[in-house]
Amino acid sequence: MIDFLRDAPVEGSLDVVWHAGWSSPKHDPAPEIQVHAYSEHTVLLRQNMSVHFEAPFLFLLFGNDRALLLDTGASADPDHFPLRETVDRLVADWLERHPRPEYPLLVAHTHGHGDHIAADRQFADRPRTTVVGPGLDEVTAAFGLADWPHRAGTLDLGGRIVDLIPGPGHQRAALVFHDRHTGLLLTGDSLYPGRLYVEDRAAYSATVDRLLDFCGTRPVRHVLGCHIEMTTTPCEDYPPRHRAPAGRAAAPAHRGPSAHPAQGPRRDRGRPRHPPVRGVRPRVLRLTGRPADRPTGSYDEGVAPPSGRCQR
Ligand SMILES: [Zn+2]
Repeated sequence: MIDFLRDAPVEGSLDVVWHAGWSSPKHDPAPEIQVHAYSEHTVLLRQNMSVHFEAPFLFLLFGNDRALLLDTGASADPDHFPLRETVDRLVADWLERHPRPEYPLLVAHTHGHGDHIAADRQFADRPRTTVVGPGLDEVTAAFGLADWPHRAGTLDLGGRIVDLIPGPGHQRAALVFHDRHTGLLLTGDSLYPGRLYVEDRAAYSATVDRLLDFCGTRPVRHVLGCHIEMTTTPCEDYPPRHRAPAGRAAAPAHRGPSAHPAQGPRRDRGRPRHPPVRGVRPRVLRLTGRPADRPTGSYDEGVAPPSGRCQR
């Protein structure tokens, strides 16, 4: 059995250049899904921007008893987006190194927007697989999250514990996942470097407070969102419909405590994915401590906490 808590949170690798699409998408020689092994038991995946402009990230976590796939991307068609095939291969590879007789897969979501759940049906007939529906009732029932959104829960993948932090605001059923093994905080679209979209400002503000409180008591190595928004110039978003040249991409990450985010290409904003929302630019959030002189729940549009104000 793997001891996932030994030396936790263990460091992984974010030494990866994310493919940033191609000038002629249908001639893009890169695979439909980019796969990066963050660690032996953790895989980061990203849908190729040539397949869908949203180019969302997905995450695959292996535990002793089962694996967790977070999100299923922006495209349903396996011919264009072979997610099931990719995940099956990754699971088979992992099981070859860590044999187990039965190994279920749990498919869940950071939130229920269409660019994160589109390939759910690819897993409908997969053996030993549970797909958690994206609705709020489905999410709270599946994870036993009582008193939503006030109380966090946990998910046990077999010695690998994942904290579940309710995160409504960007979307009503949004969840933030904290993996105790790696210290990764997987924030979906609720938090990443760049422009944030909020459909319920009060709920989002409470979510930010909840995250700050959580991160004040838990080690967080990296905050990984589901999209890349900024150029390699801090505070500069990619313009609409822009495809960043390959090689400019970095991870969609805030580095651990009190650090600036990595930058990379953005998802294309050629058309809105979400209901009318307000853009918020916290720029840099310090997730490991509440700014002493300002409550975190009061970010105004375009204003960051004092510690993270964007200077331009
Ligand atoms: Zn979203």
